[in-house]
Amino acid sequence: MKKINVTKSYLPPYEEYITEIKKIWDNNILTNYGPINIELQNKLEKYLDIDKVHFVNNGTIALLLAIDCLGLENVDIITTPFSFIATASSIVWQKCKPIFVDINPESLNIDPEKIEEKITPRTKAILAVHCFGIPCDVEKIQEIAQKNNLFVIYDAAHAFGVKYKNKSLLSYGDISCCSLHATKIYHSVEGGLCVVNNKKYEEKMEAIKKFGTINNSYKFIGINAKNSEFHAAMGICVLNHLDEIILTRKRIYQQYVKELKDLVEIPSIPKECEYNYIYFPVIFKSEERLLRVVARLNENNIYPRRYFYPSLSSLNIFGNTEKCEISLDISKRILCLPFDTYIENKDIKLICKIIRECEESI
Ligand SMILES: *Cc1c(COP(=O)(O)O)cnc(C)c1O
Repeated sequence: MKKINVTKSYLPPYEEYITEIKKIWDNNILTNYGPINIELQNKLEKYLDIDKVHFVNNGTIALLLAIDCLGLENVDIITTPFSFIATASSIVWQKCKPIFVDINPESLNIDPEKIEEKITPRTKAILAVHCFGIPCDVEKIQEIAQKNNLFVIYDAAHAFGVKYKNKSLLSYGDISCCSLHATKIYHSVEGGLCVVNNKKYEEKMEAIKKFGTINNSYKFIGINAKNSEFHAAMGICVLNHLDEIILTRKRIYQQYVKELKDLVEIPSIPKECEYNYIYFPVIFKSEERLLRVVARLNENNIYPRRYFYPSLSSLNIFGNTEKCEISLDISKRILCLPFDTYIENKDIKLICKIIRECEESI
């Protein structure tokens, strides 16, 4: 029986990658923002319509760079409990404390209505996530940040290619960070992006990603966040296919919606949003129902993933006491179904049939 995972990384045609990396043998430049890195950054800036992107080695490093670049240390950072662990652990890794604010049950993103009550004199930033590529309430978050003198960082790990009000979602916040990991919508095997929208910090970002150097002189304490020419080459090859990847995913997404909309709750794509179709999350009425579906899918060698479970606010590693009831509840009932460019029609039919049988047998 064929195994179907929650996702299968897109690989461009082999020959295209070989052609791209041939340049590395021609010029013997393997890393250090060589010509392929520069070419990729230029192409990404054009694709996203953003004037500067920093290509770095992964999305977690992008978050660490953003927190460091804004000078955040020994302060509180407001964030969402409904995310991948890297969002909150990046805050702690940079010696700050995450303060969890509950999510809005529709968008699954941090609820701006609940942010202000958590602000104290120690609060210096909001780190919000565009979960599953669905835009946060960027206007309201900006307004709160301005009023309270806070920085805004977006973990836009899921948001490559998403547009909100005709602009890349990465162009919101003081700094936006993206992941180009192999499991994301657009990837360079491992990789990440920083977009510095607050131009006061552009020069510092340029320096800290490469040991703090500007024109060979040391201006800041930095880190090695460089990515290789091999990774950049994959980034270029995948980018050449991204429009078809998103179209294929849109078709699969619509097929899932058609088959499942009367059975489970499907987070909706807001108006004024051009979506990237990165995940297919469904919300069951109870955790028991979810577990039954997972068991039946597993029997058929199908492995969906519980993104994001458990709610980060329920982990004891962050030393938090915030409850975040909505995040706790939804994280127990949400499941991401297998979703990639390789999945076949009959696989989707089988997955939907199993869910229908489970749900209708109650
Ligand atoms: C994938 C992911 C990250 C981390 O990105 P990496 O490139 O794997 O380091 C951070 N935040 C969220 C929400 C993610 O899904």
